[in-house]
Amino acid sequence: LVHRISDVTKPRYVRVNTLKIDVESAVLELGKQTMKDSLLPDLLVLPPATDLHDHPLVLDGSIFLQGKASSMVAAALNPDPDWLVLDACSAPGNKTVHLAALMKDRGRIIACELDKKRVDRLKETIRLSGATSVQALHGDFLSVNPNDPPYSEVRAILLDPSCSGSGTSAERLDHLLPSHSPGHATNGSESGRLNKLAAFQKKALAHALSFPSVEKIVYSTCSVHQIENEDVVSSVLPQAASHGFRLASPLPEWPRRGLPSFAGSENLIRTDPAEDKEGFFIALFVRERKSKSKRC
Ligand code: SAM
Repeated sequence: LVHRISDVTKPRYVRVNTLKIDVESAVLELGKQTMKDSLLPDLLVLPPATDLHDHPLVLDGSIFLQGKASSMVAAALNPDPDWLVLDACSAPGNKTVHLAALMKDRGRIIACELDKKRVDRLKETIRLSGATSVQALHGDFLSVNPNDPPYSEVRAILLDPSCSGSGTSAERLDHLLPSHSPGHATNGSESGRLNKLAAFQKKALAHALSFPSVEKIVYSTCSVHQIENEDVVSSVLPQAASHGFRLASPLPEWPRRGLPSFAGSENLIRTDPAEDKEGFFIALFVRERKSKSKRC
């Protein structure tokens, strides 16, 4: 019941694909009930339950039915338009093509995806977006050698790995119960699954930190569990510091930040399943670029 209620009370967000249409024109075409989001300039808000699946702007890739929290991820990374960017776990590609739009289809994006079937969906998303700067790569991010060209030149990584999905799935029914704490795992098999996911997430984040030219890494999940979020971030902090990274505070006007599990967790972003109708997590690592002369 809560799931159905949240679906009808949740505003319909649409992300404007600025490679195909400007925000003002999209507002005009979508009609007078359309409002601009207060945080993200390319995000529009429509009344709950607005059905846009067959809308011409959706069918031609001018707008994407992408939620607010999901749209905050590429915005948090905010890469320079001319950078080489790696989207490490990319299908179906919503955040990939958002990056392409933010980069004005300049630079280059390599979108890596392990699952062959999902690579096909990724390619379809890229085609629909009209982006020409994105190259789909069927492969395992963990097998990408950071020191091989072109990866040695990657300046930003978006890491949105497989997660429990507990912030967006029906499972959030549990998390809306007042007695439930976000870090709480419900039973043995659930906690085993979360441990496995967290082990992969830590490995992938540690791998991202090892790319020699990377200046920004965003790590995101659609999970509410601390074990997939704050705990993953805190586990790599010593390695991050040894590579010169620090946690930055993206979208500082966003009020909901990380759970207070370590010093610096206030830099992290959380969205809340009750307040925001979906639970997401975003962390941003940055480092100053080493000058060429300092590189060995
Ligand atoms: N960022 C995507 C978007 O916004 O559309 C969603 C990504 S989804 C949460 C995670 C993806 O990572 C899945 O498609 C999964 O198949 C892929 N994946 C899992 N392990 C991977 C690996 N080792 N290398 C590359 N992709 C992987």
